[in-house]
Amino acid sequence: MIRNVIIIGSGPAGLTAALYSARANLKPLLIEGLEAGGQLMLTTLVENWPGFRDGIMGPDLMADMRAQSERFGAEIIRGNVTSVDLLSYPFVVKTADGEHRCRALVIATGASARLLGLPSERALLGHGVSTCATCDGYFFRGKPIAVVGGGDSAMEEAVFLTRFASHVTIVHRRATLRASKIMQDKAFANPKISFEWNTEVEHINDLGKGEVTSMALRNSVTGERKEIAVDGVFVAIGHTPNTALFRGQVDTDPNGYILTHSGSRTNVPGVFACGDVQDHHYRQAITAAGSGCMAAIDAEKYLEGLPQHLGEAQATA
Ligand code: NAP
Repeated sequence: MIRNVIIIGSGPAGLTAALYSARANLKPLLIEGLEAGGQLMLTTLVENWPGFRDGIMGPDLMADMRAQSERFGAEIIRGNVTSVDLLSYPFVVKTADGEHRCRALVIATGASARLLGLPSERALLGHGVSTCATCDGYFFRGKPIAVVGGGDSAMEEAVFLTRFASHVTIVHRRATLRASKIMQDKAFANPKISFEWNTEVEHINDLGKGEVTSMALRNSVTGERKEIAVDGVFVAIGHTPNTALFRGQVDTDPNGYILTHSGSRTNVPGVFACGDVQDHHYRQAITAAGSGCMAAIDAEKYLEGLPQHLGEAQATA
């Protein structure tokens, strides 16, 4: 069977693309990927999704989005895509369980926030450890927090977080920042920000309480260890777009983010990209969902424009 649309990825972008293409009667197939539901599955309360006055838990929002797209006929399967062939047409999408073919492909594989790799960090993610200042800064009003990283993201997040936090400690593994001069200057000039240089995070407490109370630091030059009291830890050491599957087949920027033009179009006709896999700037659930809607509409227009012999299977798919 040749599908009209296959969507890879099940975060807000993928599920919104599924909802819109299901409602356009395209009977989309969505392949969830390993991290089903995407980054919102790692958060607790989401307070910036419009329409929920009191917020909504990230996993609940994703479960509702999934059920909503299924209600209109989207088919969602578990599993991970192992390879895609965009040189063949219809496109070929392989999973461990078999091979699927489609006329239009929507890439919504997202980006993964890089983590330090500490067990305590993973355990407290969503419980004081965060990878998104815009999403979670508001929870730390009047409290001391730390930002880990020395790039533009870390400086931007630290400066933003001073609106809420009583104090922000930037923990950086080297003695010089990677961030641009202008971002460095903003951070240095902010009286609420201090720095821990040449410093590695060894552990985040308190696993027993299930919340962040402090972090254990080690100076890599002097070997000195200390603990600082913080209520939140923002890990801002970069993101990795999940584009390994498409490498060499779709144009990306030097950091691996898929390049889109005229909405969600990639350089390959019939292949569309939405959400964080093509957006390293906004990175919000709501912008990802918006771009998923765009991808579904762009895919629908593309399918309408196909020659009869390629497009006619809409009724049979
Ligand atoms: P980035 O530039 O790659 O910086 C990552 C930072 O995290 C670096 O300081 C790095 O340390 C540190 N780091 C990486 N792995 C680490 C680890 N395992 N443990 C401890 N520290 C670690 O990432 P980014 O800041 O997210 O920026 C990504 C891109 O977006 C950049 O091109 C940036 O300019 C751009 N951006 C621009 C703006 C803006 O202009 N407003 C805002 C955000 C991002 P080292 O320095 O030692 O490598």
